[in-house]
Order: sequence, then C-alpha cells, then structure tokens
Amino acid sequence: MIEFQNIKKVYADGTEALNNFSLKINEGELVTLIGPSGCGKTTTMKMINRLIEPTDGMIYINEMAINDYNIHELRWNIGYVLQEIALFPHMTIEENIAIVPDMKKWKRQDIRKRTNELLDMVGLDPSVYRQRKPSELSGGEQQRVGVIRALAADPDIILMDEPFSAIDPISREQLQRDIRKLQQEIRKTIVFVTHDMDEALALGDHVCLMKEGRIVQVDTPQQLVLNP
Ligand code: ADP
Ligand code: ADP
Repeated sequence: MIEFQNIKKVYADGTEALNNFSLKINEGELVTLIGPSGCGKTTTMKMINRLIEPTDGMIYINEMAINDYNIHELRWNIGYVLQEIALFPHMTIEENIAIVPDMKKWKRQDIRKRTNELLDMVGLDPSVYRQRKPSELSGGEQQRVGVIRALAADPDIILMDEPFSAIDPISREQLQRDIRKLQQEIRKTIVFVTHDMDEALALGDHVCLMKEGRIVQVDTPQQLVLNP
C-alpha cells in the first residue's frame, strides 16, 4: 500500500506543485492519475521512489515511512516506465530487460527464463526479439519492452508515466489491453499517469482526478461516470 499524507511540494523557484495531497493506493490496485499538464502528476510519481522529497507531509509504503527504507532497495522494488522510451540503444532487448536482475545478481539461466516469459507475455517471440537492438523494433514494440523491463525483477510497485503517449492509437489500444491483462495476472500495485480520460477510465481500479496540485475526486471508473 502507498499512502500520501498531506503532501505539499514547493520547488526551489517557489512553484507550488502539490498542496494538501492525500491519497491511499491499495496493494494490487491500479490507480490512474489524470489531470492537465502541470497539475502535479509527475511530481507525485517521483516522490514514490524518492527522486523528489516533499516539502511537507509523509509518504508511507506498506505502513513504513519511505525515508526509513534503504534507498537502493526501495528503487529496486519499484519499476518505472517513462513517457520517452528509455531503452539503451547499444544493448540487445535481452540485455535491456536484464539490467535490474543483473544488479540483483540473478543467475544467467534465470534471466534467460524470465526474459522469455516476459516477451511471450506481450506477444513478442523471444527467439526473434531477444537478440534484436531497440532500433530494430517498432515504437509500439519498444514501448512493450519498456513495460516488461520494469517488471523484470518482479517489483511490488510499478510506476507508469504516460507510457503510451508517443504511440499510434492502434498500438495504444493493444498496449492498454496488455496492461489490463498483466494487471489481472500479476496483481501489482500500479500507478499510471495519463492525461487521456478514456485511458484513465479503461485502466484504473480507481481514478484520481487532479487539478493545480490538488485532488479533485478519487473514485472507481463506474462512480466517476455516474457522478462526474
Ligand atoms: P504534470 O506531471 O501533471 O504535468 P508536474 O508534476 O511535472 O506536473 O509539475 C507540476 C508543477 O510543478 C508545474 O507547474 C511544473 O512546471 C512545476 N515543476 C515541475 N518540476 C519542477 C522543478 N524541478 N522546478 C520548478 N518547478 C517544477
Ligand atoms: P510532464 O511529462 O508531466 O509534462 P514536464 O514536461 O512538465 O513533465 O517536465 C519534464 C521535466 O522537467 C520533469 O523532470 C520536471 O520535473 C521538469 N520541470 C518541469 N517544469 C519545470 C520547471 N518549471 N522548472 C524546472 N524543471 C521543470
């Protein structure tokens, strides 16, 4: 469970990015954060893996304050999928997926097994894709690899910051289906940022509507459609 308690974030230049922000995200739940550009979505995400410290307030993961975690263990246990595809161009797809498992000193054959399993999960034939370089994949395929790379070492929490924004509408629908299927299979805690309401409603167990650093409404998609 991730819990934000009364978070305030003021950047060094005086910009107030979040104020009075309180949110509980249950274990195994996918929560979408939605709101206009600049409303504080990315700031919220970066606080979960301590890339940004709150100015005021507390954040807990599984009821322990995030500052009490060893920062490396915290980050190893959080997969981050970024808006811009961040695969390393000189590394093969398998090497890209193996980055965190390598740091965790997984055995070669375990990494191979995991890579195959993950590629299969998103419909990329491992015998074809394992050895390819990112430039030999389409944008949608690269994005899929970005998603499974974040899952590679089996983190408890996955952060996705507009992972599909650079993707054509058809691949995007396919990726949304992938994420829904994944979520049903693996039941991870996922925080998913988007500025697309259809995407937020389609994916979220709960949808958190944000505006100007504050929460406007948190509801299930069903409730949100009935009580907008
Ligand atoms: P979103 O992800 O919803 O677009 P952000 O969390 O990126 O919003 O930004 C929230 C607000 O904080 C915006 O006004 C943005 O310009 C500002 N901001 C973000 N990062 C910084 C920073 N490092 N320094 C100053 N202001 C920032
Ligand atoms: P988003 O993907 O949410 O639109 P932005 O494009 O606003 O994010 O921000 C991209 C990066 O620039 C982020 O790392 C954010 O922290 C930083 N940033 C955003 N606004 C500012 C700002 N006013 N001053 C400094 N850094 C900023």
